[in-house]
Amino acid sequence: MPYVCPGCKKTWMHELKKCIRCNKELKETKPKKLKVMHCIKVIIPSLKHPDVPYYVSQLKDEHGNLYFKKSEEALKPGEILDENN
Ligand SMILES: [Zn+2]
Repeated sequence: MPYVCPGCKKTWMHELKKCIRCNKELKETKPKKLKVMHCIKVIIPSLKHPDVPYYVSQLKDEHGNLYFKKSEEALKPGEILDENN
């Protein structure tokens, strides 16, 4: 989840306690809606993900931040996920 600096308004995608620009304490924010940008099917198992197939979707929030989500079912590009549910 993104962390927003109340001082300089910069968004950090890493779990930082303080803004590395102005040293103010960061606030964690939760995206309201996530839009599915892409979805791929993974068929090759790996050590940490041995069960295949699974799907990895790229999601974009209302501020343009990107996330990845693993799921058992395919998500449709353009679909809006409401993270409050
Ligand atoms: Zn800052």
